Amino acid sequence: MPESLASFDQLKARLDDVQNITSAVALLGWDQQTYMPEHGAATRGDQMATLERIAHEMFTTPAMGQLFEQSAVELASADDASDDASLVRVAKRDYDLKTRVPASLIAELAHTTSLAHTDWIKARAENNYALFAPWLEKIIALKRQEADHIGYAENRYDALLNQYEYGTSTAEVTAIFDALKKDVVPLVTRIVEQKERANDSVLRRFYDVKKQNDFSARVAHDFGYDFQRGRQDVAVHPFCEGMSRDDVRITTRFDPRFLQVALFGVLHETGHALYEQGVGADLPHYLASGTSLGVHESQSRLWENVVGRSRGFWKHYFPQIQDVFPESLSDVDVETFYRAVNTSAPSFIRVEADEVTYSLHIMLRFEMEQELLSGTLGVADAPAAWNEKFKSYLGITPPTDTLGILQDVHWSIGLVGYFPTYALGSMLAAQLYEKAAHDVPSIPADIEHGQFASLLGWLRTNIHAHGRKFTPKELVQRALGEPLNARPYVQYLTSKYGDIYGF
Ligand code: ZN
Repeated sequence: MPESLASFDQLKARLDDVQNITSAVALLGWDQQTYMPEHGAATRGDQMATLERIAHEMFTTPAMGQLFEQSAVELASADDASDDASLVRVAKRDYDLKTRVPASLIAELAHTTSLAHTDWIKARAENNYALFAPWLEKIIALKRQEADHIGYAENRYDALLNQYEYGTSTAEVTAIFDALKKDVVPLVTRIVEQKERANDSVLRRFYDVKKQNDFSARVAHDFGYDFQRGRQDVAVHPFCEGMSRDDVRITTRFDPRFLQVALFGVLHETGHALYEQGVGADLPHYLASGTSLGVHESQSRLWENVVGRSRGFWKHYFPQIQDVFPESLSDVDVETFYRAVNTSAPSFIRVEADEVTYSLHIMLRFEMEQELLSGTLGVADAPAAWNEKFKSYLGITPPTDTLGILQDVHWSIGLVGYFPTYALGSMLAAQLYEKAAHDVPSIPADIEHGQFASLLGWLRTNIHAHGRKFTPKELVQRALGEPLNARPYVQYLTSKYGDIYGF
């Protein structure tokens, strides 16, 4: 290694500056959704936009391009997996993505989506697709341009997908989803045939909000969420926001008449937070967060579903939750409760879907995004196409566009290529858990005793510690010794729901 790392040291300092500004923007965003007074919205938007612009300019200045080149020379003999080499590789990748798209197109996208978002809110409220359609047309056209600037090997959609799941191709996702669909569609049909075997009515009794808050925080703490490096607050849309590994916050919303919302919302966001709190303490700040949306979602779904909706988990926690809510749960047994939290039925709204039907909502969007982007599906025909696919996957037809194509915010704010990461996360959750339980056989029994250190320890070592050093594919290969595939998830769903629904 050369004696002088002058350029690399400079690069590191600049990346720290960029990251510090980005973290400040994240904190302003957290405040906006939790404590900011209502009328602060306009100035807050300006404050965040200014800081984002400064961070973008600092990051994309041509001087950075030179620092990347010189740093690569200085680190020529460093191990690829070292923190230093990884920092240069990952930041250079981000730099390429950000500098390929011209500023004029970024500005046009920002302008268009801010207007489109306002009309989408109205269109959804009024079930008026015609109001949103011209915006969707425009956004798709701009996303085509963006994809062409970013570049791709075979499929334009690859360029957009790569912004969220770097190194994963459309063809790979299609193959995995096809394998999943083949088994999940018939599984949904069998569940519908047996639907009287489970229902969630016991969750729809009265549950005091303060007690919900305390109980869910207790479980988050048991999972390993460190409240001295995090906190829990109320927000309309639950999320997890990390300013650094030592300040990772989650938010929750409560429904006194539906226990599921806050309880599993907290377990989900805790999964995200454990990932952010678990990144290696020595990692450069720039690499100290989750590597992709898909891997992030694998952590939230693992803790929410694979752990939090398991029989073993409730064997331990049901007596405790019964103690907290005796007026609502004293006449309920653990098996009824377990079935209630695992009720499955086709429904129209993705964010309310259960873990069996959820991935079908995603596949529909993944297919439609590709068709819209390639032009084989016109924007005018999209609602009908949506409803037709919905019927073939889930057996029901949305009665309105509000319950169909207008339900998600994503397209209105320019997020195309984002949806697949949700389903990839669910699949990866099952595969990671299977491997963890294989490597550490005590994990299932530990969960039954409310002990999560063995599972968290495995995830810390194999996933969390690496931060953004590796691409999702590299990380999965290192952790599992094989690529992501549909088999563990199909097996997980089939055995769990076969047992609950009796087939
Ligand atoms: Zn999530």
